[in-house]
Amino acid sequence: MSSIYSKYQLKEVINASGRMTILGVSTPRDDVVDAVNLGLNHYFEMKDLVDKTGAYLAGLLGVENAVIVSCASAGIAQSVAAVIVKDDLNLLVNLHAAPLTVPHDIVLPKGHNVNFGAPVGTMVALGGGKVVEAGYANECSPEQLAAAIGPQTAAVLYIKSHHCVQKSILSVEQAATVAHGHHLPLIVDAAAEEDLAVYYRQGADLVIYSGAKAIEGPTSGLVIGKTQPVEWVKRQGNGIGRAMKVGKEGILGLAQAIESYLGREKESGEEMVAKITPFIDRLNTLSGISARVIWDSAGRDIARAEMHFDEQVLGIATADIVSALKMGDPAIYFRGYKANAGIIEVDVRSVTPAQLDIICLRISELGTGPRP
Ligand SMILES: *Cc1c(COP(=O)(O)O)cnc(C)c1O
Repeated sequence: MSSIYSKYQLKEVINASGRMTILGVSTPRDDVVDAVNLGLNHYFEMKDLVDKTGAYLAGLLGVENAVIVSCASAGIAQSVAAVIVKDDLNLLVNLHAAPLTVPHDIVLPKGHNVNFGAPVGTMVALGGGKVVEAGYANECSPEQLAAAIGPQTAAVLYIKSHHCVQKSILSVEQAATVAHGHHLPLIVDAAAEEDLAVYYRQGADLVIYSGAKAIEGPTSGLVIGKTQPVEWVKRQGNGIGRAMKVGKEGILGLAQAIESYLGREKESGEEMVAKITPFIDRLNTLSGISARVIWDSAGRDIARAEMHFDEQVLGIATADIVSALKMGDPAIYFRGYKANAGIIEVDVRSVTPAQLDIICLRISELGTGPRP
């Protein structure tokens, strides 16, 4: 295996940042790898494969309908296209050929118009939609959402993510009430979320998940929802969806990953605390560093270690520590969202105890470095 790293001159990576696309997201378990392998080695009637895996997953999840797509971003683009095109066969193949005369505004809270690695608005545009922001950067009430809806609105979009502004923004249930009050569908992007049924139950018509994040499947995505809009998403396979095609291996791999995910006790936040506590205790013996347990800012049951660097004592800026650790070999990646506040987060879900030792060692080397 390490021959791949040497063949292409790649650095080995310790992923202490969580499910990050820039590092390859996750490493699926053996049952998923077997399902991918089986998919690669057989032929299927593809329409049947899409329909029947979708129906099977819908049954498991207690939703009306489901379809596997190539990734969550593709799910957003195809969901937007689905609610604009519906079953118009001419529009299906001419979505971008001329200015749209059918409703195509996609209303979302301004605080949800985020960049998750690519902008939400780019996916909306791929699907033929135009973003219309509701409310302000730091607030969106049901009334503010409703005020942004007009005759050209095709759907309401809600992004459930740690990337979004969390406070003073309406709930998924409230967004569903507003959308349905205007006879519009609600699309929820829950790409990295862990609960595969809750947003559907809260009233969403389409809910989108990333296959490789919480579910730990292959590169893929899942769209669940009401029967009709999911069928419209499937139709996009003959439109924009063709440019984001998912293969049989991705379909079978994700279907298996979802079934296993639902059947498995997931690592609890308390178990993560148990794993990181010795690591935190060791860090706290180093000068210039203090560490503690913190909980996921988006409310998921994920515990991480937060390291605070005293830049005065260490004589090095936190951002420089982050980049020094990335530049090393193996490259160590942390969550660096708060580096400008002297804080780094460590997500241990994909880190082995041996790798935690390497991390401690590398950090202690930094701490004993030259002082100004
Ligand atoms: C990761 C993510 C996406 C994109 O998921 P992909 O499967 O990588 O396309 C979309 N939205 C949010 C909020 C995300 O976190």
